[in-house]
Amino acid sequence: MNKRRTAEPYKIKAVEPLNMLSREEREEALKRAGYNTFLLDSKDVYIDLLTDSGTSAMSDQQWGALMVGDEAYAGSKSWYRLRDAVQEIYGYKYVLPTHQGRGAENLLSQLMIKEGDYVPGNMYFTTTRTHQELNGGTFVDVIIDEAHDPFAELDFKGNIDITKLQKLIDDVGADRLPYVCLAVTVNMAGGQPVSMANMREVYELCQHYGISVMYDATRCVENAYFIKEREDGYQDKTIKEILKEMFSYSDGCTMSGKKDALVNIGGFLAMNDEELYIRSRELVVVYEGMPTYGGMAGRDMEAMAQGIYEAADDHFIEHRIQQVRYLGEQLINAGVPVVRPIGGHAIYLDARQFLPHLEQEQFPAQSLAAALYLDSGVRGMERGIVSAGRNKETGKHNKPKLELVRLTIPRRVYTNNHMDVVADSVIELYQKRDQITGLQMDYEPPTLRFFNARFSPLVASKTLI
Ligand SMILES: *Cc1c(COP(=O)(O)O)cnc(C)c1O
Repeated sequence: MNKRRTAEPYKIKAVEPLNMLSREEREEALKRAGYNTFLLDSKDVYIDLLTDSGTSAMSDQQWGALMVGDEAYAGSKSWYRLRDAVQEIYGYKYVLPTHQGRGAENLLSQLMIKEGDYVPGNMYFTTTRTHQELNGGTFVDVIIDEAHDPFAELDFKGNIDITKLQKLIDDVGADRLPYVCLAVTVNMAGGQPVSMANMREVYELCQHYGISVMYDATRCVENAYFIKEREDGYQDKTIKEILKEMFSYSDGCTMSGKKDALVNIGGFLAMNDEELYIRSRELVVVYEGMPTYGGMAGRDMEAMAQGIYEAADDHFIEHRIQQVRYLGEQLINAGVPVVRPIGGHAIYLDARQFLPHLEQEQFPAQSLAAALYLDSGVRGMERGIVSAGRNKETGKHNKPKLELVRLTIPRRVYTNNHMDVVADSVIELYQKRDQITGLQMDYEPPTLRFFNARFSPLVASKTLI
């Protein structure tokens, strides 16, 4: 028997009409944006897969919660609702609100890292590593080797390599490691999960040496779903039960509310250690605000509390992961080269295999992202040579192994029909891939060039496709 089909676990109460430009209008918009999808105006985009950060759709309950937000400067009722939600779903004793995830990373790094320390993690994340380094720490990647291979088919490609972690402890000494930063899931590896067994093993090893384990919990619910799906013994557990167990193998976490807490802005820092909490409470007032609002409006805390409960719902997360997979599998079935296995939040097109006739200096991923917009108004982003920037010493382009276009699915925003539209466009482009021309960079900003760089087609008379 065929597997019964399922649908979105919500119905739609308010709609936001989408703007659908003509091919000519998209051509104009793309030129204005210098062929850089970061520079496109939202009004010119049909389906926006630039990021899943802060782009979630809130529920009717969350919109209702905004109205009951308590905007008291101190002791807001909404703060207590948020604290209770974190304590109930995550299980930590102490919580401090922050304006978003990096606010929590700043506090944690300042409080725990000393000059000359090492902070092991399962692949870096941009803001996380920056805060570690600003405080004198050195990030050390201890993820398993396979995580760096975009086609290694592993269930838990985000795992920490215990041997690498043990070696780091032996080499520099446990007192040089303030904590292990464990991301669940690993964004930069394509949303790949960590197994419960690995979390337990890392925690046991760290306890033995007196090292703390701090999670980057940004995508923890997606990680919990993969455990339920793939790890023995978890099939009959609820997402809430799995989350509780996951967090029991840690001493605290930083969290971006913009992802798995289903809000447009917000975050928090949580921990079990009272002494660390007291010090964090002193610091939060310097950078964020009173410990009972920490950079958020009362209404935002209210909406995030509600979002935390909704995200821990089994039906929500099952659909979220399955929707990403629904898009990915259509592409795979049509032979389109994508990174495997499909992770929790995005599909990554391999632009090197997609456009083998382009040199990396002709910006294949940038060209593909631009061509996709031109074809259908779908916005993705380049993750390749443009994002990698230049070598500081030689001034040459860094040439990353991976040359990808990321299509990130916002939570609860689009239906599977939208995924079909995206799939049709990508597949059609793949069928006429040899017609897609490359780009040249006309303007290159000195830092983080991918945001503001401008391009034009290599063949001036052509428009990419
Ligand atoms: C988004 C993100 C952050 C930073 O959170 P912000 O809310 O954007 O500051 C940290 N870690 C991971 C894995 C993320 O995806």
